[in-house]
Amino acid sequence: MKNFSFLLMVIVLVSCKSTYLDAKKSPVLLDINKETDDYAFVNLKNYSNDFVFDMKYATPDNFLKEKVYPCGECFLRVKTIKSLLEANKAFLDKGYKIKLYDCYRPIAIQKQMWKIVPNPTYVANPKKGSIHNKGGAVDITLVDSLGIELNMGTKFDFFGEEASHNYSNLSKDILENRKFLKEIMLQHNFKSFDSEWWHYNLTNSSADKVSNQKWRCED
Ligand SMILES: [Zn+2]
Repeated sequence: MKNFSFLLMVIVLVSCKSTYLDAKKSPVLLDINKETDDYAFVNLKNYSNDFVFDMKYATPDNFLKEKVYPCGECFLRVKTIKSLLEANKAFLDKGYKIKLYDCYRPIAIQKQMWKIVPNPTYVANPKKGSIHNKGGAVDITLVDSLGIELNMGTKFDFFGEEASHNYSNLSKDILENRKFLKEIMLQHNFKSFDSEWWHYNLTNSSADKVSNQKWRCED
């Protein structure tokens, strides 16, 4: 019985540990190609200094009008980061870089969003889960060498037809900016999502498991 209790305690401790992701930054940049588990969740900031982070759900500046993430971290599966680093390299070669609005999103937050906007065109039904819940989706835009966002026609999380890739009643500049973002992302193993110019899914990630990990923030 004693042994059984001990075993139970170990199981509880191990399972608790696995539900947390650490937001602490590594003192040196790590090499994503040395990560052997493609499905592990890791923090993008540990693998590159070439992204701009603007994690909207860690601030009240989002459609929920409230801060729902404890801190602005970009966790993704290793395989998603591998492709994202390659895409960003292609943008950097042309004088631009990726700015991130959202990455991995725990399923509990998805439920909160669905309560506010129960419309599958804009928010994935938590029963099914979004690719964000699986660590395979990113919400992004592009910034130029001065850090200025390219004009994409609408803000992030604009819920209307103007945000769609199929909406063409926009200026030539806007259409070209969206096309630029989309072409490079598609060349690097991502797929676009019709109703949101900012959303990209890693190819073949829909069968991955939904995840509900929390992250520990730095003090
Ligand atoms: Zn998204």
